[in-house]
Amino acid sequence: MDDLQKVDKDLIWHPFTPQGDRTPGPILIEKAEGVYLHTQTGRKIIDAISSWWVNLHGHSNPHIAKAIYDQASILEHVIFAGFTHKPAIQVAKNLHSILPSTFTKIFFSDNGSTANEVAIKMAIQYWHNKGIQKKKIVALKGAYHGDTFGSMSVGDRSLFTSPFTDYLFQVEFLEFPTAEKEEETISQFTQLANSGDVGAFIFEPLIQGAAGMRIYSAKILDALLRIAKEKNIICIADEVFTGFYRTGKFLSTDALNIKPDIIALSKGITGGTMPMGVTACTAEIYDAFKSDELVKAFLHGHSYTANPLSCAAANASFDLLMSESCQQQKPPDGENG
Ligand SMILES: *Cc1c(COP(=O)(O)O)cnc(C)c1O
Repeated sequence: MDDLQKVDKDLIWHPFTPQGDRTPGPILIEKAEGVYLHTQTGRKIIDAISSWWVNLHGHSNPHIAKAIYDQASILEHVIFAGFTHKPAIQVAKNLHSILPSTFTKIFFSDNGSTANEVAIKMAIQYWHNKGIQKKKIVALKGAYHGDTFGSMSVGDRSLFTSPFTDYLFQVEFLEFPTAEKEEETISQFTQLANSGDVGAFIFEPLIQGAAGMRIYSAKILDALLRIAKEKNIICIADEVFTGFYRTGKFLSTDALNIKPDIIALSKGITGGTMPMGVTACTAEIYDAFKSDELVKAFLHGHSYTANPLSCAAANASFDLLMSESCQQQKPPDGENG
């Protein structure tokens, strides 16, 4: 073990990694280009996991690198309450152009977990601001929505959450709608929805990533959303993994006839270069927060909310996604999913 790896072993606590003997330890990456990671010892590794599903255009993309560099020399960061900046405005314009037409507001955070945390808090406070009691939240079995407490609560209980079980809020989990279980899922949801006490339904559209790439049909998801709409249940699409053409369309929910009310985005949003989360919502959701009273305001934000470098990276990645060469790689309509 050379010096750097010893310092790593001595000082760094890596995520999702048992802290026993830890040999051989993590691989030291010196640089990355395209699909390849280059190790310190000269090995080339294909980054087939796209560094946890974040990378879209390959590593060290020059267009995104230049955008980050240019932005860093103009404005690296500014508090986002009471201040704004061009890169964030451009992100909002870009996303607004591809989101369903009912979506009018973009809320920034830093990662997928917080994008969902914000979505859950928005849904809960929506009912609170309206003075309506709708306490239950519904999710799908096998769900993964992140590692913060709210996101963990709406995720499946597993090895990952077991130390925290007593501290997670209660959620109703629907049977995952495989072809054989569709009817069971529908009847379970119908029963819950009929109670009138369900405030929100959160789901990973069309595919559960962390659960092992479990796919379900757009038809069944449409049926679930139809039930939700009939009973005034806020639908939260966690597109953290599926966004940015992962299933063929810009959003997985683009394959649906019924649209969600809140959409969480992260992972691919900056092409895999800088941390960023976005929670987008419809005018209907936003209107419940329109007030001069502080108690009705959404009192949530992070130090690095809408970081200009992240926004510049997101805008550069969006340019690449919309470029003709990238668009020509899309499957024709009807061939995805
Ligand atoms: C990865 C993931 C998250 C969590 O995102 P982080 O950036 O890791 O916090 C949430 N939802 C889905 C569907 C994900 O795949």
